[in-house]
Amino acid sequence: MTTQESSTVEDRPATATTFESLNPANGDVVDVHPVHTAEEVEAAVARAHEEAAWWSALSYDQRHELLTAWKGVMTRRLAQLAEVMHQETGKPHGDAMLEAALAIDHLSWAGGHAEKVLKRRKVPSGLLMANQAASVEYRPLGVVGVIGPWNYPVFTPMGSIAYALAAGNAVVFKPSEYTPGVGVWLARTFLETVGRPVFSVVTGLGETGAALCRAGVDKLAFTGSTETGKRVMAACAETLTPVVIEAGGKDALIVDSDADIDAAADAALWGACGNAGQTCTGVERVYVHERVYDEFLASLTTKARGIRADGMAGAQLGPITMPKQLDVIRSHIADALDRGGRAIVGGLESVGDRYVQPTILVDVPEDSLAVQEETFGPTMTVAKVRDMDEAITLTNGTRYGLGSTVFSKARGMEIAERIRSGMTAINGVITFAGVPALPFGGVGDSGFGRIHGPDGLREFTYPKAIARQRFKPLMPLTSFRRTEKHEQQLASMMTMLHGRGTTIPKP
Ligand code: NDP
Repeated sequence: MTTQESSTVEDRPATATTFESLNPANGDVVDVHPVHTAEEVEAAVARAHEEAAWWSALSYDQRHELLTAWKGVMTRRLAQLAEVMHQETGKPHGDAMLEAALAIDHLSWAGGHAEKVLKRRKVPSGLLMANQAASVEYRPLGVVGVIGPWNYPVFTPMGSIAYALAAGNAVVFKPSEYTPGVGVWLARTFLETVGRPVFSVVTGLGETGAALCRAGVDKLAFTGSTETGKRVMAACAETLTPVVIEAGGKDALIVDSDADIDAAADAALWGACGNAGQTCTGVERVYVHERVYDEFLASLTTKARGIRADGMAGAQLGPITMPKQLDVIRSHIADALDRGGRAIVGGLESVGDRYVQPTILVDVPEDSLAVQEETFGPTMTVAKVRDMDEAITLTNGTRYGLGSTVFSKARGMEIAERIRSGMTAINGVITFAGVPALPFGGVGDSGFGRIHGPDGLREFTYPKAIARQRFKPLMPLTSFRRTEKHEQQLASMMTMLHGRGTTIPKP
């Protein structure tokens, strides 16, 4: 089958098996999609290689123009896209609009900055190689495979898709089985605008994603859980295919004694409960200076009582998109309570069949599941700390290192710089994700590689270095004509250039 066919539900081949995309708020079938086989994924990638040849031969300006046209279509149909997102994830329409708007802003930045970041530029050649003109440019890799999650089905994969396309690659995208319609919508509007399936989609379950890893892509950008990320890496290792891994997190929010407490409580609540807590950079732990702990907790508790998840008009939180996550959330709360923790808002009874109400846990031991493992629900632990040193030590005390937040008037930068995470927001929450020039990604079990910003563009390229001789060298160092005299001259030159360091006295 062709890639073009793979982007439409109606055109699915009669031989393909199918799967349903469901509305998590009520279980209704949103749509039916093909489960693409390994052969079909290979065909999609082969077609993408042809498209990559065409796309990479365009100038930066031409690609920018086409990406701008796509951006325009997405923007004009924002409400339509948000509706597909709402149907498939259950997230409130307004949240879906915000997510898609941020993705469009990134697409704009990537298209507009690709030339400046990636085009050939001169670099100093150094005294030893003064006869060389040295330069480097960043060239597209070819075809980038993108595997995405369901929680931010537009913003997250577009962090790879937009930057890979702007850098001159073709893209084959495998969306989560919970949000295939969003992926199909993106590929369909791209095809409509650009006229060629430089960006295409394959749908299916985990096996389709595994097939994409083995289908001949030149790089695989994965966003999802740490465990699946390891499987993706293992599959890609078979063919030495490089990977970007954007995995899970256990982000902390720190509140210093001089912080704006109302703003910190507001940020903690939105960071923990926004998108029903299903945010990779969501707030899952809060560490508060003992001097403001009671005040913070009182403010947070009052605000949390005004938030609900029930599918009725005015509810701020949608359902839990992936039903099996309900068991994880329940087990984390149960473990915290069993081990001496207390729920001051919500609790075990907050976990329903589809919805989870906000839950705030205190006195939870630091080695419990709710503090160490990704919960991915509208829950948070709040702990009192004696000072910021303790807050930083505890913040750095998990295997994850994705994002983090600091509320402090005087010491925000100082605290942020000591946190082991890929990104930190000061006196705001998750703000780094909306700044297109900032790289997005984690350390440790949160993965590696970067999307967004200049780093995100370079991630989908390889550097091509060229040294061009401008005039003959004074000494033939890289030739068998080199003599002992030349070597002595080299030694003298090295002494002059690098021999001046003083000897460090022995302790
Ligand atoms: P999963 O790891 O379950 O799935 C992610 C994607 O991988 C899905 O498309 C999935 O397909 C696919 N997949 C599953 N098995 C395989 C396999 N063997 N080989 C290749 N692909 C496979 O994650 P979720 O979709 O549940 O997403 C939630 C996770 O994503 C959380 O941990 C969250 O923190 C993380 N995340 C990280 C972000 C970041 O930027 N660091 C951003 C957003 C989310 P299918 O759905 O069909 O099983």
